[in-house]
Amino acid sequence: MAINLEELQVELIGDDERGFDFLLPDALKPLAKLELPQRGVLSAYLDITPEQVATGKVRLKLKNMARSWQESITDKQERRAFDEELARIEEYLTYELKEPGRSLVIFSSKPANLWRAYRVPVPIRTRVVWDERPYLRPLLTVMDEYERYGVVLVSREETRFFLFYMGEIAEYSFSLHDYVPNRHKQGGWSQARFQRHVDDHALHHFRSSAEIAARLAERDNWQRVVLMGTEENVARVKEYLPKAIQERVAGEIPASINDNINTIRDKVMKLEQEIERQTEARRVEAVITAAEKGQNGVLGYADVLLAVQEGRVDLLVVPEGLSHPGWECTQCGGLVADILAEPPKACPYCGGTLKEVEDVVDLAMQKVLDTGGTIEVLRGPTRDTFLKEGIIGALLRY
Ligand SMILES: [Zn+2]
Repeated sequence: MAINLEELQVELIGDDERGFDFLLPDALKPLAKLELPQRGVLSAYLDITPEQVATGKVRLKLKNMARSWQESITDKQERRAFDEELARIEEYLTYELKEPGRSLVIFSSKPANLWRAYRVPVPIRTRVVWDERPYLRPLLTVMDEYERYGVVLVSREETRFFLFYMGEIAEYSFSLHDYVPNRHKQGGWSQARFQRHVDDHALHHFRSSAEIAARLAERDNWQRVVLMGTEENVARVKEYLPKAIQERVAGEIPASINDNINTIRDKVMKLEQEIERQTEARRVEAVITAAEKGQNGVLGYADVLLAVQEGRVDLLVVPEGLSHPGWECTQCGGLVADILAEPPKACPYCGGTLKEVEDVVDLAMQKVLDTGGTIEVLRGPTRDTFLKEGIIGALLRY
């Protein structure tokens, strides 16, 4: 059997009534290409909680961030354009935003005919950027940390497929229905012959399910796979999965084929959080051990930022919410954290001029991603231990 996903026009269908938006990096590709001849795109990142939305603090935060831009824009026409975009975002916050999620990411540009508002389930530091293009870096940094979970929910005659990412789930727009004769209605057939007939149909169904799963996994880059259903059905579909996909199976969860999408999401989320906590604990231990033994691990701002500057960071470990002021070199981009008694006079790496920055952690994360490294943001119980041990840490490539 050959299954052509393009012919089936398989799409992902989320449910945006539930708080967060289902957002994949692909959706940002058109935004990455967008560029205006002059500044005209307003990007706003708002770290929000429902209370802040209800009391109007979000709008206040936005206004404060916008003020420094307004003061720096001297051209009258440009200032008017900025204020227009700002007003549009304020209107959205006041009248349209209902379920805010954890962070709100908005890109607004009238000349580019652009309006995007994403509710993201993780905290992102509040900031406002006015530029020729959308400011995507913080969003991409966050997204990079999450894995995609393909979910296969199987019964004897139906299979549903889902994609779970960043705390949200979407269902693929088709499900596989196969006719499997009922075991109890035998007609005039002999028991043995009827049983073979049933088995053939079931085998066909599990094999097709596995084939579709494998194709979706390849097309949509499923990094982990979750199989759901009865133990028996899960085992059968699993045996037909290609080896490479079998190895990505992160869990097998009991579920009914008619479970609603929220139930499925909550079950997968529980598994994801367990896996994430284990990964965190393992990585924290690796960094601390390597640092103690004087091997390829470093702890603390000075050593970590030096390694970042040298492009040697393979894995950066950062407790969630960590930020620290400091300086960035205008010449080489080197970062210095504000941990010294006296501010440095020049860049320690190249001697260039330094400018103050609000948060060196955020800049370090972006640099690590640019040099092909990975970031682990600690959210579980390891977070507090790590803050005591060394605040920030890294495993180095060499
Ligand atoms: Zn420098």
